[in-house]
Amino acid sequence: MVRVRFAPSPTGALHIGGVRTALYNYLFARHHGGKMLLRIEDTDSARFVEGAEEYIIEALQWCGIEIDEGVGVGGPHAPYRQSERRELYLKFALQLIETDWAYYAFDTAEELGAIRGEREAAGGAFAYNHEVRETLKTSLNMSADEVQRRIESGEQYVIRFKMPVGEQIVMQDMVRGEVVVDSSTLDDKVLYKSVDALPTYHLANIVDDHLMEITHVIRGEEWLPSLPLHFMLYKAFGWERPEFAHLPLILKPDGKGKLSKRDGDRLGFAVFPLEWIPKEGDTARGFREDGYLPEAFINMLALLGWSPGGDKEVMSMQEMIESFSIERIGKSGSRYDPDKARWFNGEYIRHTSNDDLVPHLQHELETRGLKAPYEMISQVCGLVKERCTLLTDFWAQSHYYFVTPTQYDEKVVAKFYKGDNPAHLAKIGEILASCQTFDEPTTEAAVKSWIAENSLPMGQVMNTLRLSIVGGSGGASIFAITEVLGKEETLKRINNALEKLPKA
Ligand code: GLU
Repeated sequence: MVRVRFAPSPTGALHIGGVRTALYNYLFARHHGGKMLLRIEDTDSARFVEGAEEYIIEALQWCGIEIDEGVGVGGPHAPYRQSERRELYLKFALQLIETDWAYYAFDTAEELGAIRGEREAAGGAFAYNHEVRETLKTSLNMSADEVQRRIESGEQYVIRFKMPVGEQIVMQDMVRGEVVVDSSTLDDKVLYKSVDALPTYHLANIVDDHLMEITHVIRGEEWLPSLPLHFMLYKAFGWERPEFAHLPLILKPDGKGKLSKRDGDRLGFAVFPLEWIPKEGDTARGFREDGYLPEAFINMLALLGWSPGGDKEVMSMQEMIESFSIERIGKSGSRYDPDKARWFNGEYIRHTSNDDLVPHLQHELETRGLKAPYEMISQVCGLVKERCTLLTDFWAQSHYYFVTPTQYDEKVVAKFYKGDNPAHLAKIGEILASCQTFDEPTTEAAVKSWIAENSLPMGQVMNTLRLSIVGGSGGASIFAITEVLGKEETLKRINNALEKLPKA
């Protein structure tokens, strides 16, 4: 049974790289009929940010990434928030001390700072590792009694992993292949701190992956340097290891480095799924608020690093689940392409039913204090969706359906509202007034046959009509628009134009 987890730390808004990690975990779990867990790794209290956990949960929900077990859902391994599991970790750290895979260290931050300073002043560097651990204040060079006495007297300590010397750590990564590291190059990482009685990321992560029976760890490339330690921790505990897959980065549009919030601000796009308004600092824009459909967003995101093979790009979550495999994740980073993201969204908007688009346009109307019947909003969505790339384009493309024009585009006026055109517009008003039904075919036939019978210039006349109805140029077929507006509103607009526009 495949069991994967998304294990974010609540340190702020979830970057799209994190969303992609969650998405790949989800696709992998669903592909294999397995389970997707959400574990919140909040043992680093200094980096904890209020509201971040809620943000993460809301972002996953918006994306349609369903959690089977975890924070907000519960499950057999609850609790899934590490701060609520704090009692559990010390015993595992102590187990490693007993088996000589870890040791107590009593050095204070000041002492370590002084040693580091000395080394650096002498042109060297300081690492807490096998070369120095016997010389520092550790249980490796103290009697058991002394260790006991220090702990009982309340002295603060940490528990460090005792990295073996001269061992070739051979690791298999599902994306990278074989990775080999010499253990002598690694330092002795802190696993547990008495000061807050909390484990560090490394210990809590390994213990929880083991207890939660995680079979595959799929996470960002930034965790690859931690992999040797994690391998050794599994060995030290004598536990079976999960498989690992480290995902390549999402790069800036120019390919030079990791995509950051600053790139988004500079180039005008979002790098977070939802808007984030922190207590301090700048608001970060979100794909949702920028007018993206979640389906388009995750489709675009999935293809930043994974390719299902073939030419098919527009894929539903279900299709992605069916074809997902870790073997088809690339080794190198993928550039984020804002134009491509917009393209995906346009495709999705065109394939979304009018009814599903209604709430978005309805929201735009509400924020402007406007009301319109559901049927009308739905029809308008159908008429304008071809012209929209983002949901935020809907208002610009459709405002004239809901608001009678009070101003007219000067260039269009200068071009068409002259000569006989105003008189023709008045005549069209009469023709439309006499139409018994007001649907597109009826009104179109009535007006166009009159234009043809009188051999009038079709473009000139029709553009004048459009000017009166929408206040400018552009939009769907004019008779489709007047059908939606209805007879009364259409005639009112024609009369408004005849009254307000200057006679040339
Ligand atoms: N808490 C880590 C993070 O914030 C999780 C890394 C992992 O998946 O092991 O990304």
